[in-house]
Amino acid sequence: MDSCLFCRIVAGEIPATTVYEDDDLLVFRDINPQAPMHVLVIPKVHIATVNDLTPAHEALVGAMVRCAAQVAKDHGFDGSGYRTVFNCNAAAGQTVFHIHLHVLGGRTLTWPPG
Ligand code: AMP
Ligand code: ZN
Repeated sequence: MDSCLFCRIVAGEIPATTVYEDDDLLVFRDINPQAPMHVLVIPKVHIATVNDLTPAHEALVGAMVRCAAQVAKDHGFDGSGYRTVFNCNAAAGQTVFHIHLHVLGGRTLTWPPG
């Protein structure tokens, strides 16, 4: 999708600090990190929100979650803890309409979130 920021990152048109990449997924550092580790796990295919997921996406979403866990482990936060978040639509603060799993770690994360 030409107008989508994250599709443009996947296409290499906009730079990002890549942490991991495979055929289906890209992981890069958030440009405005909210924790010492703040990365975004995205599918390479364009999906606007989690509302748009279908049964055909189940393996892809599973891979996103497992990838998040691996990246957190690679940063040393598997034992101490980390947070994974999908924001969906305006009330949750979604600003980029290409699904992304936030992975945050390296500080104590409070609950409830803001
Ligand atoms: P959300 O508010 O859940 O849609 O999250 C979008 C995230 O994308 C925010 O945390 C932004 O800081 C991040 N972001 C926006 N533009 C870029 C970019 N060019 N590279 C990396 N992260 C970005
Ligand atoms: Zn996109």
